[in-house]
Amino acid sequence: MKNIIVFIFFLSTTSIVAQSNSANPSSSIRIEMLFPEGKSKAIILSFDDGTISDRRLVQLMNDYALKGTFHLNSNKLNTKGYLTKEEIKSLFSGHEVSVHSANHPGLSGLSKIDIVNEVIEDRKELERLTGSKIRGMAYPFGSYDDLVVETISGLGIEYARTVADTYNFSIPKNFLVWHPSIHQFGKAFFKPNDTENDKKELISFYNLVSDFLKADTLAMLNVWGHSWENNGEGNRWVEMENFFKLVSKNKDVYYTTHIYLVDYINAYKNLKFSVDKTMIKNHSAIDVYIKVENTSYKIPAGSVFKI
Ligand SMILES: [Zn+2]
Repeated sequence: MKNIIVFIFFLSTTSIVAQSNSANPSSSIRIEMLFPEGKSKAIILSFDDGTISDRRLVQLMNDYALKGTFHLNSNKLNTKGYLTKEEIKSLFSGHEVSVHSANHPGLSGLSKIDIVNEVIEDRKELERLTGSKIRGMAYPFGSYDDLVVETISGLGIEYARTVADTYNFSIPKNFLVWHPSIHQFGKAFFKPNDTENDKKELISFYNLVSDFLKADTLAMLNVWGHSWENNGEGNRWVEMENFFKLVSKNKDVYYTTHIYLVDYINAYKNLKFSVDKTMIKNHSAIDVYIKVENTSYKIPAGSVFKI
């Protein structure tokens, strides 16, 4: 085993390349990342705005042992229709709390100082409320531009979710422009009185979920939305529970948050390989799982592993 360039293909659109110092790429050994616990699939459920309907949604997620990432606007908390500051820590225990800006303006086109204030003010207050470090974000209205991305990267934000659905299961190359797989129910119920379209969108949503559950390559499903959307006409809360039931308690799926997956993927990217790739050092505090030529291995945190 002479060579050391290793290509990891997640899906056709996404790849992460682990490299070391070799000149001969002809005999590369295929090394693939697996998700935590050696699983081949991961689900991230990501909800915005922090309205009082989050209470019902979190209860439902807890009932099905699902994890969520909740993007909150700290200046909206304690106002009509929004959660109280006092309940944030206990309500979201076991889930992730993340930035959604202090006041929910579209960030694209704002001056640098306004972007800084919106993000830092929110991050600081959410850290005070949760007692934890807040390192993630969802763009309000999905609005961002180059200045926004550049600015937040200097503010301790390690990922930022957009609203541009990919309709696939790829892992984003740039965590600061994290496109989700699909909006809850594929945007069904988004337009009022559009029953025919709602039906089509629901079918395409469940088709994508079914493709995910059947996938035999590494796949991440990231569904995003808002708990308040479930309060409209029809049986949307029932639909949400149907979806949770469908994806929960699956032995092939790792249920996680955005920030945990960011930490995990970074730990994977930082694995150090010997030239012949039989020795692997994991410098992180996270156990990393890999597949080498179709055999799965756990590389324990902080250890040197010999294959
Ligand atoms: Zn929002």
